[in-house]
Amino acid sequence: SQEIRLAARPQGRPDASTWQLATTEVAEPGPGEFLVQLQQISLDPAMRGWLNDVRSYLPPVQIGAVMRAFGAGTVIASQHDDFAVGDVVSGTFGVREYAISDGTGVTHLDLDVAPMSTWLGALGMPGMTAWFGLEDVGRAQPGDTVLVSAAAGAVGSTVAQLAKAKGCRVIGVAGGPDKVAWLRELGLDEVIDRREGDLLRQVRRAAPDGVDVYFDNVGGELLDAALANLAHGARIAICGAISTYNDETLAEGPRRYMALLVFRASMQGFVVMDYEDRYDEAIAGISELIRDGRLVATETILEGGVAAFPDALLGLFDGVNTGKLLLEI
Ligand code: NDP
Repeated sequence: SQEIRLAARPQGRPDASTWQLATTEVAEPGPGEFLVQLQQISLDPAMRGWLNDVRSYLPPVQIGAVMRAFGAGTVIASQHDDFAVGDVVSGTFGVREYAISDGTGVTHLDLDVAPMSTWLGALGMPGMTAWFGLEDVGRAQPGDTVLVSAAAGAVGSTVAQLAKAKGCRVIGVAGGPDKVAWLRELGLDEVIDRREGDLLRQVRRAAPDGVDVYFDNVGGELLDAALANLAHGARIAICGAISTYNDETLAEGPRRYMALLVFRASMQGFVVMDYEDRYDEAIAGISELIRDGRLVATETILEGGVAAFPDALLGLFDGVNTGKLLLEI
């Protein structure tokens, strides 16, 4: 079984020296365990954070350990009562071809409801993030102007469509003309190409009456542009800050935080895992929208197996993906 281990903590952008490709024997499951053959591995911006030796919501990946990753596959051997050979499951199995599990944090996937890739995207962790970030943290209401960054990505494209379905006016920000065109097809009211620059004025043009909810996936300059264009009582949901994840020094800012005072606004961070006991609610809501054709679940699936992981991860920072980015094993 091939696996990717953390060889050294990266400074800035991860490179070849960050990773080690290793081969191990495929183990037999013991009592209470089962063996999964991985088929798809989820590529997540959070992975970059797990490489840093800092205090966070999860401990860092240790040097020499298999890289932490969420993924899905099929049970091929089992000594566990709840997991039978042939079951399709998802869980935190790591960047590897085969994983032994005791079932902790492992979920059965119903492929009659949606394909595996969607269970890792709009019906998986990114979809849950979109749902609870928009509902609970952003508290979006019909008629609100919702600004969402990385809007063509896994979380962002789900947020944008959930907000549209709710009756919000939705402004998406994405990189490049193809993503802009795709988001217009999805029915967004305005789409900003971040590569065209001058974000503050682009947001102002798109939201002349101000932004009620900013769902922030990227941080940096766009967060300041949103702060400069808030509506009274606005909510900023801090979901992530991908524009800073490879920075070697902490960025300055946000510079315009006093807008929170002026507009009686709030800014709140959240971690999706805190909503685990309510995932059923979000899965029901999102799958209904998919069924009705009101939400398009999209995934970009890269080939190349475990060995392609180092390059595939960088794809997130280069914006190669539309929707959820996955690696086929
Ligand atoms: P995406 O599918 O959105 O992929 C990342 C996207 O970010 C790229 O496609 C690219 O889109 C954009 N991007 C990359 N670099 C930059 C940059 N420098 N400036 C602006 N945009 C950039 O990833 P996810 O949907 O998985 O994650 C989105 C965000 O949500 C991340 O910040 C992640 O950390 C966070 N997250 C937070 C969770 C939580 O519990 N709080 C849970 C899950 C995710 P483009 O080409 O359009 O610029």
